[in-house]
Amino acid sequence: VLKVVENLGVSYIRGSEPYKTKLGSELRKLKFPYRALAEDDYEARRKDHISHFILRLAYCQSEDLRRWFLQQEMDLLRYRFNELTDSLRQKFLDYVNLSFEAITEDLKNELANELCVSTPGLTMNKVKEQMFYKVGLADAVDLFRARRVFIKDGFAYVPLKEIDAIVLNNYRTKLSKALALTARSLPSIQSDERLQPLLNHLSHSYVGPDYSVQKNTGKIALEQIDALSVKSFPLCMRQLHKALRDNHHLRHGGRMQYGLFLKGIGLTLEQALEFWKKEFIRGKVDADKFDKGYAYSIRHSYGKEGRRTDYTPYSCMKIIMSNPPSQGDYHGCPFRHSDPELLKQKLQLYKIPPSGITQILELVKGMHYQLACQKYFELTHDVDDIGFSLNHPNQYFTESQRLLSGGREMKKELGNSGNSQKSNTQESMNSNCTPTSSNTTADAELEGLEAYFTED
Ligand code: SF4
Repeated sequence: VLKVVENLGVSYIRGSEPYKTKLGSELRKLKFPYRALAEDDYEARRKDHISHFILRLAYCQSEDLRRWFLQQEMDLLRYRFNELTDSLRQKFLDYVNLSFEAITEDLKNELANELCVSTPGLTMNKVKEQMFYKVGLADAVDLFRARRVFIKDGFAYVPLKEIDAIVLNNYRTKLSKALALTARSLPSIQSDERLQPLLNHLSHSYVGPDYSVQKNTGKIALEQIDALSVKSFPLCMRQLHKALRDNHHLRHGGRMQYGLFLKGIGLTLEQALEFWKKEFIRGKVDADKFDKGYAYSIRHSYGKEGRRTDYTPYSCMKIIMSNPPSQGDYHGCPFRHSDPELLKQKLQLYKIPPSGITQILELVKGMHYQLACQKYFELTHDVDDIGFSLNHPNQYFTESQRLLSGGREMKKELGNSGNSQKSNTQESMNSNCTPTSSNTTADAELEGLEAYFTED
């Protein structure tokens, strides 16, 4: 849900009619109980509360996560608050102990002149249409200071459109304090082995298809990879492919990220062995060393060695949130991990028009890395609207191929695949970008695999 809120907040003007319509329809599609208060659905509210508190635990862990979470929660609350009827809004304000009372029609008529002249942007007609709330001065300091409200007997008379700002400010302060408090209690929570894997994975969990089962296994020829890397690879994989071709080598982070991606697009084990070997022996690794060290790790990632776990390709969240690249590494997400100037140069090199580069850099500045990648997709495929929400490099590849080979039919399918998120927490943990078995086993297995890849 919060990903959708983020996506729409960047693509539309918040609060505009198209934004509200689109958000409403997306929330319905995800079966999010955003009208639970209106429908008096206790069970739905309970579920919503529980998931909110689980996310608090997962998203209190770093400044970046906290900021992202706060922003999306604010936007979601603003939307939900404005969707309430007058009486439910009053009920909500009472419930959260914000004792703002809507003034009666009689009082409003009596004060109509004062309200009109003291509230910027209001005409007499608008005063008649608007609800006004009586708010203690302490809660309306900003409005009072900016001379945006009528004051009488120690109360500010605040129009509805300004009330949501007060409610949101109040919520922001409370949520941000709560996140800081939760972060402080994390060490004790993390020592609980039932919660620890959940918390570690949730903030970068991926809940879409896992791309481990491929219909096109064996349908890609090694000779096609160079061309595909230009046409259909997301920037992260294009960068890895280029580095591999240039240096005839990738360090272990890059081999993991790129190797599993290639597996996901359909390379068989035999092809993967041939692909990596051909490239590595052009560099400093001889065939014998490759067979003894690297070949094992490739078979391992295909589930043919060790515990025979079938590893799944990494999702965007995993790439963005974990294992940042250091000097000499090419893995990671270029929108997240590249210096903006270098990113700009790379985009220029790939013939992205200057206006497109500006848009991408703006999104990167706002920390909307996946949206920046979506923009890159639109610009490199010459489409106005990507039509799906990007969560996975393999999804990028699949959608690109579908677009390049079909066009129209794609849009329909994109709608489904782009929103195939499931809200089941357990499921989201299990489908998280690493092995498809349980998480505890997954972590142990991954460590095993990483160990085989550690040789630089
Ligand atoms: Fe790769 Fe995802 Fe970053 Fe795009 S957003 S470059 S697909 S990690």
